[in-house]
Amino acid sequence: MSLFNKFVIETDNDYPHLLITAGVHGDEFESIRCIHTLINQLPGNLLKGKLTLVPCVNTEAFLLGNRTAADELDLARICPGDPNGTITMRVGHELSQLIRTADYYIDLHTGGIRFSVHPLTGYLLHPDQQVLDCSKWLAKSFNLPFIWGTDWRLPGRSMSIACEYGIPAIYAEYLGGAQCSEEGVSNYINGCLNVLGRLGMMNRVQPESRVKTIVEDPRRGSGHMQVCHPAEFDGFFTPTYSLGDTVQEGDVLGTVRTIDGRYTSKLIASQNGTVIVLRTFSMVRKGEATVVIA
Ligand SMILES: [Zn+2]
Repeated sequence: MSLFNKFVIETDNDYPHLLITAGVHGDEFESIRCIHTLINQLPGNLLKGKLTLVPCVNTEAFLLGNRTAADELDLARICPGDPNGTITMRVGHELSQLIRTADYYIDLHTGGIRFSVHPLTGYLLHPDQQVLDCSKWLAKSFNLPFIWGTDWRLPGRSMSIACEYGIPAIYAEYLGGAQCSEEGVSNYINGCLNVLGRLGMMNRVQPESRVKTIVEDPRRGSGHMQVCHPAEFDGFFTPTYSLGDTVQEGDVLGTVRTIDGRYTSKLIASQNGTVIVLRTFSMVRKGEATVVIA
């Protein structure tokens, strides 16, 4: 039995097969609303190819109101999963099998309950130039302001499976912070329609490019957001900057103060760049990420 619903729109021609997934993390809402809208709008409008839409991969996590299901495994870290494992391992297996059938792949995320992310599309810096160029082309077509290419060796993600099978793929991020932004939903819908148009799967007048910044960071481990600027101890996080701000190495990004008010530690920027992820949930535990710069 399938662990998540796949909504498939077919035409006379099976190529290309575009897969778009949402809800790999259960607390990322713009993505899910985007897929629901596409399910309403797209049947009957495809010129060619096959489109698979998954409104929520991680249903158990969604129903818990969490990033992860009850086993607390991160679905974006355990792919290709295991058909005989815990719920997240089984979902990871089914998702990985599905990704292998795609010619192109888009995975929609947001910052979830505790983070907000500057609108961006990301891809892995694939060692095969053709796959890399095509992934970058997808990212530009999706048309969010920031594009981020990162280490292809990071394991366990939906992107890692696409990378392993040479499938051009992007992920997208748009705000979060436990909200569902209308602007985010509409930009995600437009991004998906832009890609469908570029692939010749539907008629689409392409908008002007809104891409402002492209950052490619080949350093090992780049793109791993959960480890950036970790809190020194449990406490209350107060940021100094906003999403999209430019910072310099050495700037104070924010503070963590113990809940009894006795100690305060400063979070110092480890590099120059743009603030692309900001913790919006004030409580932080020791070792958890606060700010990501790219
Ligand atoms: Zn996510």
